[in-house]
Amino acid sequence: EKTKAQIAAGEVIERPASVVKELIENSIDAESKFIVIEIKNGGKSYIRVTDDGTGIDKDDIDYAFFRYSTSKIRSVEDLNHIYSLGFRGEALASISTIGKVEALTKTRDNNMGIQVLVENGKIKEKNIIGCQDGTTMIVKDIFYNLPVRQKFLKDENVESNYIGNIVNKLSLGNPNISFKYIRDNKMTLKTPGNGDLSSCIYSVLGKEILKGLIEVKSTYDSIKVYGLISNNNVYRGNRSHQYIYINGRYIKSYFLSGIIQECYRSLIPINKYPVFILFIEMDPQLIDINVHPTKQEIKFKNEKAVKDVVQGIIRDSLKSGLK
Ligand code: ADP
Ligand code: MG
Repeated sequence: EKTKAQIAAGEVIERPASVVKELIENSIDAESKFIVIEIKNGGKSYIRVTDDGTGIDKDDIDYAFFRYSTSKIRSVEDLNHIYSLGFRGEALASISTIGKVEALTKTRDNNMGIQVLVENGKIKEKNIIGCQDGTTMIVKDIFYNLPVRQKFLKDENVESNYIGNIVNKLSLGNPNISFKYIRDNKMTLKTPGNGDLSSCIYSVLGKEILKGLIEVKSTYDSIKVYGLISNNNVYRGNRSHQYIYINGRYIKSYFLSGIIQECYRSLIPINKYPVFILFIEMDPQLIDINVHPTKQEIKFKNEKAVKDVVQGIIRDSLKSGLK
């Protein structure tokens, strides 16, 4: 069943990495255990995301490409209880207007799968086919019909790096899912998907960084904070290795990274940036994620309460971990 939700719209797709992000998030929302991402030419000519998730039923496939059509929320009230990564129903609609999309999908309940070809937001071909359970989305020739926006894309290496960053963020945030990333026919990343954060970090950031991390795990005032943070040896010259996830969603938060940075400064003299991969779980009603269409920014309804808890937990972990 589909709900059309009128939610403040915005341009979701800026570059190939935005497509990759939206497709992977859909795969995560579909309860996948295994996600393969393949790109060519910085994603400009070819992006493929394959998952082993729920698939899309043949009766729902048309809706999946409609704007504001989402299976993830049913009413505006649901917006206060969001656990899924998507909820706007904008991504596939937007992607299929700026690129040539092929979708292959099958649910467990169907014997046969379905293939659709979508261009300019319209389904132009639909076929019954045999395929595995799950979904494959292929997006070709991004901005082929918008030459001005195509011209604004960076060279292939830079676009590939943007995509690599997205894959890193989403794979580190989901240690229970195995990610495979193939860039220009070269396997670039593979995570085990065994649920263990350390082995996931090992695959994504490497052994050296993992060795310099200490564990955080604590709950206070119904806010749970866990993950791994720098000991006093592993620092970076910028914030590139700071990953924060709220209820499973990667977020960019100068507010939170500032608080964490302060915790370090109050204990040891540093002028660099600590590494951290930190998960915060709290009642979604205390968060407003509907701030920006790409959803990387959030607002806490009570910043002071969040600050006190995060500060307390990080300080305690540092005090015992730095001994
Ligand atoms: P949203 O994620 O905000 O719901 P999207 O445009 O990204 O909107 O996707 C539209 C719908 O298509 C989703 O609500 C979901 O029902 C379906 N869908 C998209 N990708 C997948 C996938 N990989 N597996 C299963 N269902 C999917
Ligand atoms: Mg989505």
